[in-house]
Amino acid sequence: MHIVIIGSGMAGITLAEALRKQSPDDRLTVLTQETHGYYSRPMLSHGFSREDVETKILLKSFEELEASGIGIQSGTEVLSIDRTAKTVTGRQGRRERVITYDKLVLAPGSAAFIPPPFRSAGGLYRVINSLDDLIGLRRQRARLIETGCTPRWAIVGGGLIGCEVASDLAKAGDRVTLFHALPRLMERQLVEEDSATLLKVLAAMGIDVRLDAGAESFEQHGEKLAIRSASGLETGFDGLIVATGFKPRTELAQAAGLEVKRGIVVDEFLRTSDPAILALGDAAECADGRIYAYVMPIRQQALWLAKYLAGQTSDPWQPPEFKPRAKVHGFTAAHPYLF
Ligand SMILES: Cc1cc2nc3c(=O)[nH]c(=O)nc-3n(C[C@H](O)[C@H](O)[C@H](O)COP(=O)(O)OP(=O)(O)OC[C@H]3O[C@@H](n4cnc5c(N)ncnc54)[C@H](O)[C@@H]3O)c2cc1C
Repeated sequence: MHIVIIGSGMAGITLAEALRKQSPDDRLTVLTQETHGYYSRPMLSHGFSREDVETKILLKSFEELEASGIGIQSGTEVLSIDRTAKTVTGRQGRRERVITYDKLVLAPGSAAFIPPPFRSAGGLYRVINSLDDLIGLRRQRARLIETGCTPRWAIVGGGLIGCEVASDLAKAGDRVTLFHALPRLMERQLVEEDSATLLKVLAAMGIDVRLDAGAESFEQHGEKLAIRSASGLETGFDGLIVATGFKPRTELAQAAGLEVKRGIVVDEFLRTSDPAILALGDAAECADGRIYAYVMPIRQQALWLAKYLAGQTSDPWQPPEFKPRAKVHGFTAAHPYLF
């Protein structure tokens, strides 16, 4: 059987490695647009205070994975799925290739969610969703430091990733202003008391936190960038980072006629509406209507799916008991996180 996996994030690679062990006779191919190797996405938000991050973030090279018997086609963007012919078409550079599958696993992860008002301001802001994003931000930071200035950032979004990135940039010595639309930080993960503690921790790091300050638009003012928010126009930023949530990558599945809601809809066996195609990770909307966009449940999905595809279990996937945790420097929540 030829199992084709789209995506080389935690979902795709954990699955491929487990399948390699459990299904030695199956052919495995991972198609991925990544070129750097398999890296730790959670480490992206701590990518400024550590000098060695660009090497430490790499968990395995694609060559190592190839040597273990997993076919990797890196730098390959999958463009379409033909469910009747059971093929996918991928583009690597200028070359298009058609690959046949017996089972197809969709693990394309998620993109950064960009609120509609910012979409036309494409060149003015950055996101932190992939290693390429981090490399771009680190280069921009290095250029600013070379000219002798302390970089000044505006971060839009006081959720988990926005708070983590703000704390890491401040730890690295930069000036940070954090704009959050709501009256408290990380309101989706923390109880009120912990949001208040988090605010104090960030303020003690020198971060200027603006609550009830939803960003409305971005502007270029000479060399500097400006944000218009509920509290007025503020200029003087060297960089704007938007951290306003994630968007499951559903486009391929949708174009192939699979059922899609917020994510790619799967049943309790992680099967999409086509039984030859399965999905997991940030892109999959599970039978309970939830998207388990965290490392621990995704790892469990991948390990379970390997067993299922190898015919070693017929029990459905059970979401594990887990709570997310923020990696904000110096912050510990006193109460359990919400999920
Ligand atoms: C900054 C940051 C910090 C985080 N911190 C934490 C944390 O501390 N704890 C935690 O539990 N979770 C954390 N998360 C969430 C966690 O990283 C994700 O839930 C997890 O990485 C999702 O894995 P995935 O394999 O589903 O998707 P991804 O990691 O997004 O991988 C999907 C891969 O598919 C590729 N791909 C997509 N479309 C195509 C296509 N058409 N063709 C070819 N390739 C394609 C993408 O390039 C990508 O490499 C964090 C996320 C971010 C962004």
